[in-house]
Amino acid sequence: MTGMHTPLNDTTRVGGLSYLNPLAPEPWASFVEQIERVRPHLGSLERWIETLIRPKRTLIVDVPIERDDGTVAHFEGYRVQHNLSRGPGKGGIRFHPDVTLNEVMALAGWMTIKNAAVGLPFGGAKGGVRVDPTSVSKGELQRITRRFTSEIGVIIGPDRDIPAPDVGTNAMTMAVMMDTFSMNRGGTATGVVTGKPIALGGSLGRQEATGRGVFITAREAARHQKIALEGARVVVQGFGNVGGIGARMFHDAGARVIAVSDHTAILVNLGGIDVPAALAHVAANGGLAGFPGADRIDAEEFWALECEFLVPAALEGQITAQRAERIRARIVVEGANGPTTPAADDILRDRGVLVVPDVLANAGGVTVSYFEWVQDFSSFFWTEDEINARLERIMVSAFDAIWHIAQEKGISLRTAAFVVACHRVLEARAERGLYP
Ligand code: GLU
Repeated sequence: MTGMHTPLNDTTRVGGLSYLNPLAPEPWASFVEQIERVRPHLGSLERWIETLIRPKRTLIVDVPIERDDGTVAHFEGYRVQHNLSRGPGKGGIRFHPDVTLNEVMALAGWMTIKNAAVGLPFGGAKGGVRVDPTSVSKGELQRITRRFTSEIGVIIGPDRDIPAPDVGTNAMTMAVMMDTFSMNRGGTATGVVTGKPIALGGSLGRQEATGRGVFITAREAARHQKIALEGARVVVQGFGNVGGIGARMFHDAGARVIAVSDHTAILVNLGGIDVPAALAHVAANGGLAGFPGADRIDAEEFWALECEFLVPAALEGQITAQRAERIRARIVVEGANGPTTPAADDILRDRGVLVVPDVLANAGGVTVSYFEWVQDFSSFFWTEDEINARLERIMVSAFDAIWHIAQEKGISLRTAAFVVACHRVLEARAERGLYP
């Protein structure tokens, strides 16, 4: 069964392939390349740039559990605190069969940049367990979550590092993590994780927040490009918490979602997919497969569909150089983390395709996580309207600031977002100074 065994002699898997070589394969290599592109824009802060390609703290944990059949299975888990210069670590926990240390390092790095780019008072962190959550029972998954939480318990906490959901985890996972951390500590600590159920101190609007942020940044980009949302064609890869909700918001705004995909199917309907019906189908069946309102299409045809918005909202490394040559979208809005490789970024730019980068486009989730953390600390909860209004303000002003820097310096929105973020992080670094 996938993810169950980590052979002891498999050194390429234990700890991930490329920790010792930052220029080894993606996604960490992509992150390093993205940081390199900021170098000419850092001025005197360049002195500190290496901080960003050396994660501050990396924890690899063994997660043993007793399976339902009485055998023992081991899983490998990670928590990487990429940078803590501006505040506690913040970033999600991924449960996926392909999780590696290399990937978690990159995801943690992108959290540092994302949090700084939108101005949240957090550093960047990320965690994960190499497990296919669909291949284990509910009880086994809960035991994995509890043991993993206990193992990373030595470095997380409401004022140290605050996990949240990511691919393969959800509010229930956060409930179990909060409970485990609290039991170990001997007192309820709601602020140790965000993305919790409302009953445990979760925030209204958190679940929709990433999709909402994707939509807000897409709308802002469209305004600058003079593209009308009404009738705009939208292609969405990934139909979960980010892609599904993002698609619904485009649909509600009068756009035409012409293609969607998930791990079960790739579907097209040039007349427009009934998004609420597709969401209901997924809720009932666990995936898009069998949805009657659209036709199957080949993966490469999917990427080449002519559209106004292309929204990769699944995993990293999806838009490769090869695919970038064939993309016929006006704007790419990155719901996923790291979906576009640096080589593909250059090709899209040359071809006049605007890319709204992940560290801006999908920052809505962690922004409402920040609201959740603040609400937990003050034990005073806001209304959904209040949350959505604050989210809107933060996303729009971050978008504007990054847009203007991109124009002024003649750089991509990604590099501009990195410039804003790296300045903030490295300025904090410089002000704090080296210890000892
Ligand atoms: N996993 C989400 C992200 O990649 C949310 C992180 C958070 O809320 O801390 O941004």
